[in-house]
Amino acid sequence: MTERFTGSFTQQEPIPEEGIEAALSVLRHGRLHRYNTAPGEIAETALLEEEVAALTGARYALAVASGGYALACALRALGVKPGDRVLTNAFTLAPVPGAIASLGAVPVFVGVTEALTIDLDDLAAKAGEAGVLMLSHMRGHLCDMARLLEICDAAGIRVVEDCAHTMGATWEGLPSGRHGVIGCYSTQTYKHANSGEGGFLVTDYEEIAARAVMLSGSYMLYDRHRAAPGPEVFERVKYDTPNISGRMDNLRAAILRPQLRALVGQVARWNARYHVVEQGLRGTPGLTVIDRDPRGGFVGSSIQVLLLDWPDGTIPEVLRRCAARGVELKWFGGAEPAGFTSRYDSWRYAPSDPMPASDRILRGILDMRLPLTFSEEDCALIARIIRAEVGAVWQASGRAGS
Ligand SMILES: *Cc1c(COP(=O)(O)O)cnc(C)c1O
Repeated sequence: MTERFTGSFTQQEPIPEEGIEAALSVLRHGRLHRYNTAPGEIAETALLEEEVAALTGARYALAVASGGYALACALRALGVKPGDRVLTNAFTLAPVPGAIASLGAVPVFVGVTEALTIDLDDLAAKAGEAGVLMLSHMRGHLCDMARLLEICDAAGIRVVEDCAHTMGATWEGLPSGRHGVIGCYSTQTYKHANSGEGGFLVTDYEEIAARAVMLSGSYMLYDRHRAAPGPEVFERVKYDTPNISGRMDNLRAAILRPQLRALVGQVARWNARYHVVEQGLRGTPGLTVIDRDPRGGFVGSSIQVLLLDWPDGTIPEVLRRCAARGVELKWFGGAEPAGFTSRYDSWRYAPSDPMPASDRILRGILDMRLPLTFSEEDCALIARIIRAEVGAVWQASGRAGS
């Protein structure tokens, strides 16, 4: 009998009951706007920011409308101007170069290694070209952060971390998002906490924090923030920082607070699922499992493998065969961007020199979500299906034994 998987790769868990209760209470009192508070009331959004600061160990935190907004807000808070060049990953998702382009700044793409991390040699080679690196920890693969910071410090580059896939992850014990000047997170449905849309940014720098608060649309109500610097800092920035509205609201904040409290436990559940798939795929001929650097604590909310140097046409065949058995794989090597998968050469508003070494990696990347609605048994089944179908196409391609 041919096994089939019938679960949904896009179905997340429900919002925890505690979050539903908190959301209902916000709906019942009607004060959804973060600055709409009753006397003595502290807004859910302000409480959430305090909790985000505590969770990450940052001095300041700001909740915003989306992860992409957090990224653009971070660049604005750093003073990036139209025409400025901003380094970023060639292997990332569209909102990252999009955030750079939203300021009229120009993305400069840095290559990807077989570990799916930013190519630090390529970064060193391009370091003279920009004053900011928007570092995307794409799919949770963390590079050697000490070496990255060495390169960036030497070149005077400030680092903004895109932690859309690393909320809850660490590098050498420090939470992801705390190595650079600003850390940005997303709470969009497919990330590690789910408010539909939403995001945060964290920083230790008071003037950056004050600018970000003003940028997010605080009017002159910044004193309602509890994870923000004191009024004297706002005095320095309030006349020359535009309001580019992108606030979070109390409904989303109410949903998120219990999810953040549960994050550590959720990470363990993701990683248990990840390890089942990884173990099931290890040793599949033609398929490379990405070994995670033990210095990093990752969140296995998705898994990537490489089918390196497979002949033309064979990877689409793997995708078709897996899909026919209910297993949805995404591929970063298609000629045309599809769904969430696009790559640096699809972003034609930001032309780049070709990067053949990165192209070889991108052509081989298979990517799969692991929502927590999957059981570990589901994960074992998924791995058996991928293993069988990769094996069948590999055999048929005549590469077996090569
Ligand atoms: C989702 C995502 C973002 C942006 O988050 P949104 O909340 O959807 O704006 C940024 N970077 C990466 C890598 C993402 O996957």
